[in-house]
Amino acid sequence: MQASENTNDDFLFIDDSDEDEIFDSAVRDTWKVLIVDDDPEIHSVTQLALSDLIVLGRNLEYLHAYSGQDACKLIEEHDDIVLVLLDVVMESDDAGLMVVKHIREQLRRDDIRIVLRTGQPGYAPEESVIKDYDINDYKTKTELTRRKLVTTVYAAIRSYQQIDSVTQNRKGLEKIIGAAASLLEQHTVHDYARGVLAEFKMLVESHSGVFCARGQGIVEGADDLSLYILGQDGLSDIKVNQKLTALEDGDAARKITNCFQQKQHVLDAHSTSFYLASGGFRAVIHLELIQALTTIEMQLIEVFLTNIATGYENVHLFQKLRNAAYKDWLTELPNRLDFVNLLDGFCQSKNDDLVAALVDINHFSDINDGLGQDIGNQLLMAVSTRINALDDKNQLARIGADVFGIIGPKESVNPETLTALFSQPFAAGEQNLPISASFGFCSKGSAGSRGVKVLNQINIALNLAKKSLHEPYVYYHQEMEDKTLWRLGMIRQLRTDFAEGRLELWYQPQLSMATGKIIGAEALLRWKTSDGKFISPAVFIPLAEYSGLIIEIGNWVVEQACIQLNRLADSQYPDVSISVNVSIPQFKRGNFVDNVIEITRKNGVDPSKLELEITENVLMDEPQVIIDALIRLKAKGISIALDDFGTGFSSLSYLQKLPLDRLKVDRSFVSGIAETGGSIIAETIINLGKQMNLKVIAEGIETIEQEAELKALGCDEVQGFYYAKPMPADEFFVCLDKINR
Ligand code: C2E
Ligand code: MG
Ligand code: MG
Repeated sequence: MQASENTNDDFLFIDDSDEDEIFDSAVRDTWKVLIVDDDPEIHSVTQLALSDLIVLGRNLEYLHAYSGQDACKLIEEHDDIVLVLLDVVMESDDAGLMVVKHIREQLRRDDIRIVLRTGQPGYAPEESVIKDYDINDYKTKTELTRRKLVTTVYAAIRSYQQIDSVTQNRKGLEKIIGAAASLLEQHTVHDYARGVLAEFKMLVESHSGVFCARGQGIVEGADDLSLYILGQDGLSDIKVNQKLTALEDGDAARKITNCFQQKQHVLDAHSTSFYLASGGFRAVIHLELIQALTTIEMQLIEVFLTNIATGYENVHLFQKLRNAAYKDWLTELPNRLDFVNLLDGFCQSKNDDLVAALVDINHFSDINDGLGQDIGNQLLMAVSTRINALDDKNQLARIGADVFGIIGPKESVNPETLTALFSQPFAAGEQNLPISASFGFCSKGSAGSRGVKVLNQINIALNLAKKSLHEPYVYYHQEMEDKTLWRLGMIRQLRTDFAEGRLELWYQPQLSMATGKIIGAEALLRWKTSDGKFISPAVFIPLAEYSGLIIEIGNWVVEQACIQLNRLADSQYPDVSISVNVSIPQFKRGNFVDNVIEITRKNGVDPSKLELEITENVLMDEPQVIIDALIRLKAKGISIALDDFGTGFSSLSYLQKLPLDRLKVDRSFVSGIAETGGSIIAETIINLGKQMNLKVIAEGIETIEQEAELKALGCDEVQGFYYAKPMPADEFFVCLDKINR
């Protein structure tokens, strides 16, 4: 616009109203414009020039100030002023510029548009002011014809509107980024779906929302093709985890399916289905709208969706990780960790009828090793299927290779129902496998308050069941745990006392029936605790076996026996032998045979003077391993005795394979031997020994009658309180002097 085109009076006339398209009296919303000028006439002329002007669909509304000060006050009071038409020279030469500073610096209002006007060109502000304070326009009043004023105002308000929409957008974006960030923290698909719908509620006004996706891997038992409702909002019926077809609003269900098929957003005036895709994961968010979405809303939602799509992929990965952490890969049942969670629920449940149980398949490793892992896996699947079919109220988990956990009402989780499951063989591959199982139970009444605790309790019961010879199941009760605690305490004490040298080896003489002389001694452990109490080996040997401590202790016993053998060799009784007792775990763990051979070699003892006593029960588990070990020991000249003979379960065919030297008749067959009919078993054993060419020793002789009877039966050797109780080594030598001299 050229100044030369204008005359002083130009702008006072409505001379060029060719902009009808911007007049519309029906519009109600207004733009607030503040006119600041100390000349009242300018106010009315401006208003007149702009009368009926509609900018971007809105009328103008005017506020008036006649000084810079007034102007500042009004701007503070009305935060919706969009444009200030501002006289530069008023109460002072720079009163207008002071208003500008106030707006931009004090009020920090960058959005308000400012048009400076001045009567004289000489009062024009410097260019820097125009730039620094974001002045829209600077005009001398003479420049402002109506047409130019309209154009200036129009441009200024447009620019206000753009600034405003950028600000709104920015706020929207901030909201979206916040919303998307909070969604990233969700770890389950369900929480995520709920979160997305909640955020949508903040962004868009809607009646209701539904979050839909394929349910596979998320919804228990979901097939891979159907769509499931994973989250919902504003619906009266809860349909989460159900198929989309369960949705009452069939129209919405159709739109959602359609959106999935088209792989893009589907919008209409009343509803919208947004398509969410990231990685291989797809979901649809369906909203029933209160009013149609504006373009800006749509743009914002687009940004929002891009932001949250990765979140959707993430929660899927989380779910997978969760599955890996909480699901058994083979049966897809909850695993041990998750069973603990289920047991937590069991503890909190108000239902006193509930029972938790563990099922342990007996000899599963034999099947795995013998028939291969494939068959093993198929067997586990078959077992899991059969237990699962018991009662759909039960919760089933696989908590170890061959151990299942069950929680359910006592009508279905009890010894009868569970053992019945194992009465028929299980099909695995081509095989039909008859298997048995052991069961530990814990009913709600005796359960602890936390899942880990209960698991431990059922485990105690299961371990007892596995050892039980009568029934394959045991119910947990508190005393068991007291016993376990006691056992652990004893083991701890045994370990320290052994390390501190509080174990002793005592010797009980063994005599020849023919000569009445001591021919040997059985070495027996004695544990004297720090408070002077003796603890019976019948108590602590099983604990040492259970804890594995028997390996170290057993080596020590052999060592001690060798020391005494050397003492004997140097004494007048070099032919006296020593027997030591050996437990099953000693054969199974460590290199017992090598150790014994090494200890005898190191001590330079005659191996034939050392005897190892084993019980029949060592043959129960892995007979061949034991037989091989004994043959190696025997080859070194070490003697082998079979202790407690007749009390175990070994078959005679195995006995024949053992490289034995002696049979020991157990005390239980000796105690009643003097009574009528009480000697049959002892007699049988003695005869058996003779036929197998073995020496026979009877133990536990307490009376002269017992001795007489054994003598009559032809027993070779004897040991018992009648002759001598076990005693410390030094006393044994005194005893030798007394009897053998
Ligand atoms: P065992 O090997 O059968 O030992 C014989 C047990 O009978 C000993 O009990 C002995 O003191 C006892 N005894 C001997 N004569 C009589 C008698 O006339 N009347 C009565 N009432 N008892 C008699 P102890 O010393 O209490 O040992 C118990 C068990 O502990 C032993 O039974 C053996 O199985 C085990 N044991 C002891 N020392 C060791 C050891 O060093 N290693 C291993 N592995 N086990 C040991
Ligand atoms: Mg013995
Ligand atoms: Mg014995």
